Amino acid sequence: MINTFCLLCLIFSIQYAQAVNITEVDFYVSDKITKDVAKLKIGESITNSNLTLSNSSIPLSRETGNIYYSTSIANLNYDSIEFAMAQLMAEDSSLYNRLINSDRLSVLVMTSSLSTDLCGSTYLAYFPNIAVIDLNCDSLTLEHELGHLYGAEHEEIYDEYVFYAAICGDYTTIMNSMRPEVKEKKIIKAYSFPELKVDGFQCGNENTNNRKVILDNIDRFVSVRAKPNTKSTN
Ligand SMILES: [Zn+2]
Repeated sequence: MINTFCLLCLIFSIQYAQAVNITEVDFYVSDKITKDVAKLKIGESITNSNLTLSNSSIPLSRETGNIYYSTSIANLNYDSIEFAMAQLMAEDSSLYNRLINSDRLSVLVMTSSLSTDLCGSTYLAYFPNIAVIDLNCDSLTLEHELGHLYGAEHEEIYDEYVFYAAICGDYTTIMNSMRPEVKEKKIIKAYSFPELKVDGFQCGNENTNNRKVILDNIDRFVSVRAKPNTKSTN
């Protein structure tokens, strides 16, 4: 089987010359996590975010902003964002208020104590700039959760039609829901869009287009407007 990376080499030849918007992401890390481990995972995650955005021809890149190591975060039990934030409000109201009053992308980095299917969590209506991720999960989790904060969604299936995240042969795009029927499929590092093809399968159409959702909301968290893009695709 051709590996995903090479497929992407072949597929993503779209070059773009727009200016690239840069968004910094701040991380609030449980101080139970070793700093070297956290930095490595954050670095891998940011790299995969940028690969996903580049492969999707989205003129946006992410950079690591500040990394804070917090005992308050360490004292929370890993859970979905609404329960994690409820715990934080009781544990450290100052940090809670700082997070909810910020317009920067902020990610709580925790470790689940039990095996869980919940690798990350967002709740756009209540916490529009905050995500929770489990350090034990893979480094595509970050961009998946950030995608939700721009309005991107999992695959939604009505009759035979799929919306938002695409299912294309043995593959799914990064907004894979991890439901049993798609859990075993390989995740490609891209958002769905009509021009995306893998193994001859189209990974999006005019209705299944998380790339458009991201583009429609691209200014939501822009920190810096940067120079013209000169990089080639991967
Ligand atoms: Zn999700």
